[in-house]
Amino acid sequence: MLANQLHKLLQEIQQAEVAYQRPPGSVQLLAVSKTKSTAEIAWAYQAGQRHFGENYCQEALIKQRALGAFDISWHFIGPIQSNKTKLLATKFAWVHTVDSLKIAQRLSAQRPASLPPLNICLQVNISGEASKAGISLDELPLLCAQVAGLANLKLRGVMAIPKPEDDFERQRLPYKQLFAAVAALDNPSLDTFSFGMSGDLQAAIAEGATIVRIGTALFGARG
Ligand SMILES: *Cc1c(COP(=O)(O)O)cnc(C)c1O
Repeated sequence: MLANQLHKLLQEIQQAEVAYQRPPGSVQLLAVSKTKSTAEIAWAYQAGQRHFGENYCQEALIKQRALGAFDISWHFIGPIQSNKTKLLATKFAWVHTVDSLKIAQRLSAQRPASLPPLNICLQVNISGEASKAGISLDELPLLCAQVAGLANLKLRGVMAIPKPEDDFERQRLPYKQLFAAVAALDNPSLDTFSFGMSGDLQAAIAEGATIVRIGTALFGARG
């Protein structure tokens, strides 16, 4: 059942790559497993999925302990509290939601020397919603430059959660804008666009997503 759903989703991603002239294999699936059980993660893993995204630190740690024998790459995609940066720096391969120099500095300082640099994305509040986390587009060049100097981080790109829209063209617009802003920085190490969830997967791939973060369309609705 879950294996079928995973297969269908990977097919959908492949078809979108073709439809929007994206290179084959350029879009990676991040399975968003928040609120889902370790058993469900294990099923997806057995069906071949390796990258999983979690929003809550404590919940993620419990699952990581239970699934310690699995070769999973854990991504943190939730809001960051500064008293949790040590756990994030120690237990994750990626953090998608960095939105201040202070948080980036803490993550770099707390990343254990025994681990490779922590992959990070800067979260950009592209729709300008006051309630949302993330920096503005204007702040992106400076924060990129500042974070690039931190020894134990590897700045990979940007992440966005635009305001939900039903219309396909409206879904594309914020991603197009952010993609252009990153392209203008002309920095080849910015190779990651963490764009798109279950509701706007196609629009995100059309506008350059390299990681799509999918929960509902893989695991079903959250309770
Ligand atoms: C929950 C969540 C997702 C997955 O959303 P779905 O609509 O269930 O695919 C993706 N990104 C973030 C940041 C999330 O919090």
